[in-house]
Amino acid sequence: MKILVINCGSSSLKYQLIDMDNESVIAKGLCERINIEGSKLTHKAEGKEDYVVESPMPDHSVAIQLVMDALLDKEHGVIASTDEISAIGHRVLHAGTIYSDSIVVNEDVKKVIRECFDLGPLHNPANLMGIEACEKVMPGKPNVAVFDTAFGMAMPEKAYMYAIPHEYFEKYSIRRYGFHGTSHMFVSGEAIKFGNLDPKNAKVIVCHLGNGSSISASIGGKCVDTSMGLTPLEGLIMGTRSGDVDPAVLQFVMNKEGKDINEMLNILNKKSGVLGMSGGVSSDFRDIAKAAEEGNHLAEVALDAFRYRVAKYIGAYAAAMNGVDAIAFTAGVGENDVNTRKAICAYLGYLGVEIDDEANNTRGKNQVISTADSKVKVMLIPTNEELAIARETLALV
Ligand code: AMP
Repeated sequence: MKILVINCGSSSLKYQLIDMDNESVIAKGLCERINIEGSKLTHKAEGKEDYVVESPMPDHSVAIQLVMDALLDKEHGVIASTDEISAIGHRVLHAGTIYSDSIVVNEDVKKVIRECFDLGPLHNPANLMGIEACEKVMPGKPNVAVFDTAFGMAMPEKAYMYAIPHEYFEKYSIRRYGFHGTSHMFVSGEAIKFGNLDPKNAKVIVCHLGNGSSISASIGGKCVDTSMGLTPLEGLIMGTRSGDVDPAVLQFVMNKEGKDINEMLNILNKKSGVLGMSGGVSSDFRDIAKAAEEGNHLAEVALDAFRYRVAKYIGAYAAAMNGVDAIAFTAGVGENDVNTRKAICAYLGYLGVEIDDEANNTRGKNQVISTADSKVKVMLIPTNEELAIARETLALV
């Protein structure tokens, strides 16, 4: 059975065609600059040369049609007919408080995705466009929505309620939702399997450390707490996002610099994080690490602060769960940055964490990186959101 996974941004569309018999990627690609001059599709298929199509894409329907053409192409394609695709799984950012699981798309589901445009203004409209484009280009084919907020819906009230007047929750559903949910679900599940942990009771902390970073605590794969909030701005220090700050900082800077709230949030989302802290060196952690090594003090502080905050959250989540069986590192930094993993774990001696330096010198594959004596199993587990979406889709169709 083959499943097409679609991840739509406002001007982009990523796809993977996955053979669920062996969970292998048959083809994948990216449409860039949708509805912008210079649209381009790059298609990669196992054992074939990359295929680039430069053709106008006025909307997501045209992009999906070009994806189908590429998948069916005589030379570069991988299927003979769209009948070979059993279903389409879509990454959808926000389901508000309505859905805590993936769901087969119907008119009600589309209505909920539309009603959540306010909560996910950059993503939900694009996600819906992707679904409607697939409905148009492949009528009758089941579409499944896999929500990034679904994992966080298992959190108890004490973890998701903000200490603000309750009326804002009642009127506007203001609460902690958490993001990267598909990744946290996948990695916590893989950590339980790979680490031979108790599937019902294992206490797992997943550190998804990339350009966007978040951390979750889960027991038996059910989310107990997670660091992103109403939006992805809260929590860890990221490439360009500030993570946690005293909200009064906003008022202070806005008054001093004559900025409005939109400008201020733009600064916290796009100009802060290690980019802002380092005085503009880069949002890319490799550049920050290199600058720090070369003696740039601000880059060094940014890197230290990033690692320190991850360690603080791990401490908080170990307390929240009254213990931790496993800590899993994932995403660009988590999967590749040996030094960051080591530096974070150096804070965790009090938990009985002991890292095996040789095992830690690994990138991009499942690996236990703690010693046999370590009281907590520390693991490197590459995330795979597309496969997680495909598995959810398969389970529903
Ligand atoms: P992601 O958002 O998950 O794609 O992660 C992107 C981040 O991972 C970027 O900041 C990269 O610099 C970082 N990254 C990728 N490879 C490495 C590496 N070998 N060492 C440190 N950071 C890395």
